[in-house]
Amino acid sequence: MTTQTETLDPAALAGKPEARILQNYVGGRWLSAQASGLLDVTNPANGQILARVPLSGKSDVDAAVAAATAALPDWRARAIGERTQFIYALREKYLQRIDELAASITREGGKVLSDARAEVTRAIEVLEVACSTPMSMQGRILEGVSRGINTETIRQPVGVCAAITPFNFPAMVPMWFLPFAIACGNTFVLKPSEQVPLTSELMCHILGEIGLPGGVVNLVHGAHDAVNGILDNPGIGAVSFVGSVNTAKYIYRRAAENGKRVQALGGAKNYLVVMPDAVVDKTVSNVLGSAFGNAGQRCMAGSVLVTVGSAQQAIMGRLKDEAEKLIAGDGTDPKAALGPVISPVACSRIRECIESGVQEGAELLVDGRRPKGVPAGGNFVGPTILNHVKPEMRVAREEIFGPVLSVMHVDTLDEAIALVNRDPRGNGTSIFTENGAAVREYSRRIEVGMVGVNIGVAASPAYFPFSGWKDSFFGDLHVHGWDAVEFFTRKKTVTSRFFSAGETGKYFVEQGDKH
Ligand code: NAD
Repeated sequence: MTTQTETLDPAALAGKPEARILQNYVGGRWLSAQASGLLDVTNPANGQILARVPLSGKSDVDAAVAAATAALPDWRARAIGERTQFIYALREKYLQRIDELAASITREGGKVLSDARAEVTRAIEVLEVACSTPMSMQGRILEGVSRGINTETIRQPVGVCAAITPFNFPAMVPMWFLPFAIACGNTFVLKPSEQVPLTSELMCHILGEIGLPGGVVNLVHGAHDAVNGILDNPGIGAVSFVGSVNTAKYIYRRAAENGKRVQALGGAKNYLVVMPDAVVDKTVSNVLGSAFGNAGQRCMAGSVLVTVGSAQQAIMGRLKDEAEKLIAGDGTDPKAALGPVISPVACSRIRECIESGVQEGAELLVDGRRPKGVPAGGNFVGPTILNHVKPEMRVAREEIFGPVLSVMHVDTLDEAIALVNRDPRGNGTSIFTENGAAVREYSRRIEVGMVGVNIGVAASPAYFPFSGWKDSFFGDLHVHGWDAVEFFTRKKTVTSRFFSAGETGKYFVEQGDKH
C-alpha cells in the first residue's frame, strides 16, 4: 500500500486513468465518497498505481447503513428459496469469471495466479455451503410442553450486518460472511482492506449483474474512520472482523461496548511439529507450501517449525535445498512460487525481523532478504529460514506475515506441545507423523483451534467452522460451518396454544384415536 494520504481533489486527477477514484456501492448505485483523503492502490509486484481509494468517513458509512436498513423489510420478507437463488447465481458467476477474479487478486495483492485461483475456489465453496441455508436455518419445535401447548424456536435475521476484512484474501474473506448473512435475511455492509479494494469492487459489479436488489449488499471503502463509523453506528446489529490481533481486540471491545454481536478473528503464529517418523519428502513439501505459499501472508501459514528428536537430522538438509529452489517473482509469472509481499512497509518490516533474528543469534540457513531476478519496483522477499531460533527472539514472538520460517529443535513431543501452548495465539498447527498415539496426544492437549495431521495448511472447509482460539479469535461463534447461521440469526421462542382446538388440548385428547 502507499501510504501517502492526500486530500481528495478529483479535478487534479482528471485525465489520469491510473488515478481512477473508487466509489462506494450504496443502495445499488456507485457513489463518490465524502472522503477526507485518498490512498494509492498499487500492484505490489511493480509499484504501478492501479487506482485511488477514498478514505470514507462516518457520513459514508451512515449512508450505506441507511440503504441497508431501507432494503431490509423487503429482503427479509422474501422466501428463503428466493434469497438463496441469488447465492446460486453468484456461485455460477464466480465459476464463469474465476480467471478475472484471480487476475484481480494477483494484480492488487500479489499472490501467484495458482494461489489466486485457489482462493476463488474457496470463496465458491462458501457460496455452495450458503446455498443450504434453508436447511441450516431451520428451528426446533417440541409438541406438548404442556397439555395442548407447543413451543418452537425459530431463527430470524439480526438486521444490518457489517464485515471489515484484511488484505490477504480479498475474494475469500468477504465471502466468509456475505452469503450467509444475506441468505439468512440480513442486509450487509462491507469495508474491505484499503490495500486491496478492487476485488470487492468487482464483486459488487457481479452482484449488480445477478440483479441483487439495491441495498442488500453495500460497499464502503476506507480505513480507520470507516471502521469506527461501523462500530459506532446504532443501525448495525453484528460485526464480523478479520485482521491482526491488536485490531481484532479493538474491534471486539468497541463493537461489544456498543451492544453489537461480534466475531473478531485475529492474527496467528502457527507451529508445525515434525516427529522422527514423519515421511520426509511429503513433510518437506508440505512445510514449504505452508511457510512460503502466498509469500507467508496467510493466517494459517506455518511460521515456526519444531523438529522432535532425530527429525532434525532427517529433514533440515532437504528443507534447505528445496527452499533454495523456490523462486520469487511477479504472480503472473508461472515460474514464480511466491509473489511479492503487500507493501514496501511490509517488505522493510519483514527484512528487519530477519535481521533481528540474526542479531539475536539465529542461523540464517536460507537468506531471502534480497532475492535476485525479481521485477523492479516490487516488494519482494524470498524464502527465508532461520535455524536454532529461541522462543524469546523477536522472530518467535511476532507474527512476521512474510516468507520466513523459524526453526526450533526439541527432544520430546511434550516439549513441542509446551512450546506451542505458550504462544498467546492459537489459530492453526500441524503435526507430521505416522504415529496415531502421538497424533491423539497432540490433538487433545494442544491449545489451538485448527489442527492438521500431515497437512501443511489445516484451514477448515466451509462446511466446518474456521475455529481459531486464544488471541486468534475474539467472540463465541466462528466463521462458516454451522456457526455461520447461528451468528447471522437471532433465536426467537414461541409458545402457543389454540382454544378452538379444545380447552387445554381437549381436541387432541378426544380426537386423537381418529387421526
Ligand atoms: P489489519 O488488522 O491491519 O487490517 C484489517 C482491517 O482492519 C482492514 O480493513 C483495516 O482497514 C482495518 N484496520 C486496521 N487497523 C485499524 C485500526 N487501528 N482501527 C480500525 N480499523 C483498522 O490486518 P491486515 O494487515 O489487513 O491483514 C493481515 C492480518 O490479518 C494478519 O495478522 C493475519 O494473520 C490476519 N488474518 C487473520 C485471519 C484469521 O482467520 N484469523 C485471516 C486472514 C488474515
